[in-house]
Amino acid sequence: MAKVLVLGEIRQGELRNVSFEAIAAAKQVANGGEVVGILLGANAASLANRMIHYGADRVLVSEHSDLHAYTPDGYTQAIMQVVEVEKPEGLILGHTSIGKDLSPRIAAKLKSGLISDAVSLDVTGDDVVFTRPIYSGKAFEKKLVTDGLIFATIRPNNIEPLEKEESRIGEVTMVDLEIKNLRTIIKEVVRKTTSGVDLSEAKIIVSGGRGVKSKDGFKVLQELADALGGAVGASRGACDADFCDYSMQIGQTGKVVTPDLYIACGISGAIQHIAGMSNSKVIVAINKDPEANIFSIADYGIVGDLFEVVPLLVEEFKSIAV
Ligand code: FAD
Repeated sequence: MAKVLVLGEIRQGELRNVSFEAIAAAKQVANGGEVVGILLGANAASLANRMIHYGADRVLVSEHSDLHAYTPDGYTQAIMQVVEVEKPEGLILGHTSIGKDLSPRIAAKLKSGLISDAVSLDVTGDDVVFTRPIYSGKAFEKKLVTDGLIFATIRPNNIEPLEKEESRIGEVTMVDLEIKNLRTIIKEVVRKTTSGVDLSEAKIIVSGGRGVKSKDGFKVLQELADALGGAVGASRGACDADFCDYSMQIGQTGKVVTPDLYIACGISGAIQHIAGMSNSKVIVAINKDPEANIFSIADYGIVGDLFEVVPLLVEEFKSIAV
């Protein structure tokens, strides 16, 4: 039995789904022990009970004004203080922009190992084994934690959160943290993405490549994404051509996504793009070139002009939704 800390991530006033997935992972690591949530930021206390509904036993909250927006040094100081007091056996974060930035800093300070980007875990007795993709998702390795803190980041959309139980109760404690000598001050956060659905957590992604041909071409993809309640992503080819913003890029040097459904439109399937989406549960490719490499990893392929196929799909999905 272990005590495991989980960082809940707040984005635009809401807890990100990966926080609940991290609680589910922590529950497994705790193996009957305690799962303690950490929530930092403005109005964090109002979200604490959600962590409890998804399985946390206790939640520690700080609404310190220096923690309202993520800063590497502010969050590192906060987590280090909580770790010092709680002395956990485990620490789980989401493998998000924040988790990727924060976890190595904490690992270095704690002189601990870190398993990053885990997609699943197995707990047998005292053995905790994490599985993580390697070689851009072409293979998986298993990592057994043999000693010290069980510290991991988990990839969004891979570990099933626990069933939400609103009747679950737990302790919420406001903690006093001392944040000092910050080298990073956030003056303003400017969001580039306009879509309401967060790409890295989206269950459905409609993605466009150079075949989409223009900024206007992406409007057709947005319509399909809207009809499906999904988000729009892009290949680097499309971003380089200025059809869309780099925040939408999926791939080796963009975001790594694992949606339930990935619809690739006018994307050739370069290895660097596949590295970011090959673990999607169902892949649909729409491309007018039957030899396009994207078809080699697609579950369903449509050979055709995306400007003919996508509007038909929009029409069909809208009629189903009615
Ligand atoms: P193209 O390869 O030009 O493919 C366009 C496709 O659209 C073609 O298959 C064509 O048949 C099809 N098409 C054209 N018109 C239509 C139509 N009307 N209907 C249907 N299909 C149509 N790429 C990424 O995506 N993500 C990354 O993170 C990334 N990182 C990289 C890192 C490095 C170091 C390097 C060197 C490259 C990286 N790339 C990345 C770039 C990658 O190698 C490819 O150049 C890029 O993915 C190609 O984008 P694309 O598939 O949109 O364009």
